[in-house]
Amino acid sequence: MADIKKLVSMLKELDDLLTGCMRCGMCQAQCPVFAQTGRETDVTRGKLALLSGLSEEILKDPEAVNEKLQRCLLCGTCEANCPSGVKVTDIFLRARAILTGYLGLPPTQRLIFRRLLTNPKLMNNLLSLGSSLQGLFTKDADSVIGTSCARFNAPLIADRHFKKLASKSLHSQTPHKDTPSGKSGLRVAFFPGCVTDKVFPQVGQAVLKIMEHHQVGVFMPPNQACCGIPALSSGETEVFDNLVRQNLDLFAKGKWDYLITPCATCTATIAELWPKYYGDKMDAVRVKELADKVMDVSQFLNDVLKVTPKKAASPAKVAYHDPCHLRNTLKITAQPRQVLAAGGKYAAAELPGGPSCCGSGGSFNIKHYKLSDVIGRKKAESIAATGAKIAATSCPACMLQLSDMLSKSGHSIPVKHVVELYAESL
Ligand code: SF4
Ligand code: SF4
Ligand code: SF4
Repeated sequence: MADIKKLVSMLKELDDLLTGCMRCGMCQAQCPVFAQTGRETDVTRGKLALLSGLSEEILKDPEAVNEKLQRCLLCGTCEANCPSGVKVTDIFLRARAILTGYLGLPPTQRLIFRRLLTNPKLMNNLLSLGSSLQGLFTKDADSVIGTSCARFNAPLIADRHFKKLASKSLHSQTPHKDTPSGKSGLRVAFFPGCVTDKVFPQVGQAVLKIMEHHQVGVFMPPNQACCGIPALSSGETEVFDNLVRQNLDLFAKGKWDYLITPCATCTATIAELWPKYYGDKMDAVRVKELADKVMDVSQFLNDVLKVTPKKAASPAKVAYHDPCHLRNTLKITAQPRQVLAAGGKYAAAELPGGPSCCGSGGSFNIKHYKLSDVIGRKKAESIAATGAKIAATSCPACMLQLSDMLSKSGHSIPVKHVVELYAESL
């Protein structure tokens, strides 16, 4: 258990944040989990009510509170639409930290966070071993989407149609990069993020190709650590601090103008969560510098490089899914669509019913796969309803979920990152 004094002070801070909720219930109409279950404890208002008595509830039944708190995608849709401006994500992350501090994590999860996630070299080696062995346990599911499924009964995989680990990760294809700024006069630091690195290296290569084309210098240091969101959303704040510190040190080794990522979640984590939750206040200046300079790659292409849509005679429709961390947290919706059109071959098709969460939610997909599946299948149907032959998004985690859901629903629609489609045209 964490230091009791620290827990009490965290509870006090949480109480202060909770006072903003008017209990109006407007969040009910927004929450994808509530839309499926109709349970008050699955929507923001219910969770906030539960948390307002957290010290008492912790003594009564901390596991039950934890369980209810985990039934949330952290998609931020409720927060983006709350008339009182309640900082829902902040509240939920703090509450998870309190509960993890009190209960601790299950030993395996703790081991993965503390020994593996904080040791990028070891994690890279283990995953590259996993990549060479995975064919023994998997078989093809949909060759157009490139998904696989389990060859034998495997409870952890269940009926998922997943994208396998790449045979060669981005960091083994391109271990590091340090090129000067060309005609653009700009240099970017490149943070591909774990999923791009290990599952979609072609997305990372597309970014490198685009930067080379626009004569932007790239600083990509080796041994990058995870941005920390899996640890933070599980309440493991010490692991989160360790990961942020490793990245701060790495990126301090180069001079650059912007930090770019092709992962909506990484961008939102660096921009919003690093400054709020990184524990070492002595490093506040370094954290702020990265937070101020981080950009989603399509935002960089559009807002800085001024890449503009090309007129195309008959552009192919691409069903575009807005990742929640871009739409709700960073308010980035136009730029990926512009980048799609900038290649001169594609145009974004809007999904019927408007944007919504795909149901991935990181650990939510592992802990509550059935719910994630119901939410994701609706998304797959809305993509199919556009009639588009390609789906695109701006987040590798969403790419995993969309691939799974489209593959299982029998819609053979490949899922691409917008930068892959733009890079095709260069
Ligand atoms: S979180 Fe916001 S929308 Fe939900 S009940 Fe509270 S004030 Fe209303
Ligand atoms: S963050 Fe998303 S899943 Fe969680 S309560 Fe809000 S709307 Fe629901
Ligand atoms: S957001 Fe996801 S993909 Fe990006 S670094 Fe963090 S864990 Fe890895």
